[in-house]
Amino acid sequence: MKFGVIGAGVTGLATALELSKTGHDVVIIERDQTPMPKTHDEAFDWDRRGAPQVRHSHALLGRLHNILRDNHPEVLKSLLDNGVTEINLVDHMPETLDDRQVLDEDINLRMLAARRTTFEWVLRNTVMSNPNVEIRTGLGVTGVKKSEAAIPKVTGLYFDRGLNEDFDCVIAANGRRSNAPEWLRDAGIEAPDEVVEDTGIIYYSRFYRLPDGIELPVGDRLVAGDLGYLKYGVFWGDNGTFSITFATSDTDKTFWGIKDVEMFESVVDAIPAAKEWISLGATPLTGVHSMAGLLNRKRTLKRDSEVVVDGFHMIGDALICTNPLYGRGCSTGFWQAHLLANAIRDHGADTTAQSESFLLSVEQNILPWYQASVDSDRGSRAASDGEDDDMTIMKRSILKDGLIPATRSSAKVWRGFMKMMNLLADPSILTEPEISSEIMKVWADRDQRGPEPSLGPTREEMMDHLKLTHVS
Ligand SMILES: Cc1cc2nc3c(=O)[nH]c(=O)nc-3n(C[C@H](O)[C@H](O)[C@H](O)COP(=O)(O)OP(=O)(O)OC[C@H]3O[C@@H](n4cnc5c(N)ncnc54)[C@H](O)[C@@H]3O)c2cc1C
Repeated sequence: MKFGVIGAGVTGLATALELSKTGHDVVIIERDQTPMPKTHDEAFDWDRRGAPQVRHSHALLGRLHNILRDNHPEVLKSLLDNGVTEINLVDHMPETLDDRQVLDEDINLRMLAARRTTFEWVLRNTVMSNPNVEIRTGLGVTGVKKSEAAIPKVTGLYFDRGLNEDFDCVIAANGRRSNAPEWLRDAGIEAPDEVVEDTGIIYYSRFYRLPDGIELPVGDRLVAGDLGYLKYGVFWGDNGTFSITFATSDTDKTFWGIKDVEMFESVVDAIPAAKEWISLGATPLTGVHSMAGLLNRKRTLKRDSEVVVDGFHMIGDALICTNPLYGRGCSTGFWQAHLLANAIRDHGADTTAQSESFLLSVEQNILPWYQASVDSDRGSRAASDGEDDDMTIMKRSILKDGLIPATRSSAKVWRGFMKMMNLLADPSILTEPEISSEIMKVWADRDQRGPEPSLGPTREEMMDHLKLTHVS
């Protein structure tokens, strides 16, 4: 079959990788003018206005690592050959765990650390080595062609400059700003309404490189924290690079000045875990990039359990996107590509059965993560708006004084939490009796144990540090 894949982000490339390996012809259409640079460092300067999030830190989770290891070892090898860092979480097991024995299943607890552009550059290099794949960059899709049938069928694409082309099947992997539902509507195909929930955050990231010969620090903690008014993360990258990301409320303007380099560095200076990395002699590679308008959104192409369109799939962020704080988008995008390729393999030219099968697997595998993001964001928003009810106060207390400390003391909780964070176990794993009982034991002991170690300054301390005026 001949597939048209819209978008050469992680999901579009992953889809092309999967489909081309099973003998299909794939044409990738990418609106950004991105000729292939010679090195990953040149790719860092790519003009990726169609995917501006590439300027931000990206965690690449265990699920993505495992899909590559099991299905695309040549991509994993090329990533490692090109300086991508493989993080074996067992190396970061807290010293204080009740059992530090490494289990066979821990082989799966591996993440990748890379600049998003390095990851994309390696993936694109590998995908383009398959002669079944063609890429057209600097060309935007503007609409879909369709033929009438009991279920309307997409038969091709319209591009800018008045061009068009026929395809046996079209896959829209064109990201969180995808206007695929409008293309369908213009062609007379009405997709069900999407569900959108704001994340309530603004993102700020800056990239750095360590001097030659200085290793990225390996400790028994991965560096991230939630100070309530500010969330932060320090991310390993590839080839001696790393990045620091802060997230603030998108309604409380107090800390919006973080988008200026001076204030960004002042905040870094006040957070020991971030300062530690900078003080290794890091050189900034970028200014501070900020990004707002971050949504949780789910779409579907099924109404009342019937698919509404044939020969057309939406995938990756175009179908489901979640709060970037949880670092799941590239992994769920790649995972969706894998699920779609399985549906296509299992159902051949029966495009309706393909869609049914793919959408069902998305409901089973991906939607629980959408729901987990939405639930977690609602909890954070209720806290910051002072609209907590007893249930959310209790949940937060169990998280802060039960789950988090239990990941440092109980091997079962540490392992369950790492599997969950890496999309290797369903979010409900933490409510399984043998894990939740450990969490509740630690929570019950909270008053005897005393306060948790500080992750950084309080809001008032940070305001004093930044010389911001307190408004009562
Ligand atoms: C601030 C931020 C931080 C993030 N951090 C993480 C993280 O730590 N870990 C993680 O896994 N995920 C993270 N994500 C999410 C991740 O970036 C996305 O989930 C991922 O990029 C989705 O990939 P995609 O291929 O579906 O879409 P995209 O990467 O957005 O790619 C879509 C592509 O389609 C192209 N396109 C759009 N319209 C057209 C058109 N009409 N014609 C042709 N081409 C078109 C665009 O130019 C773009 O290249 C983050 C997101 C944000 C916003």
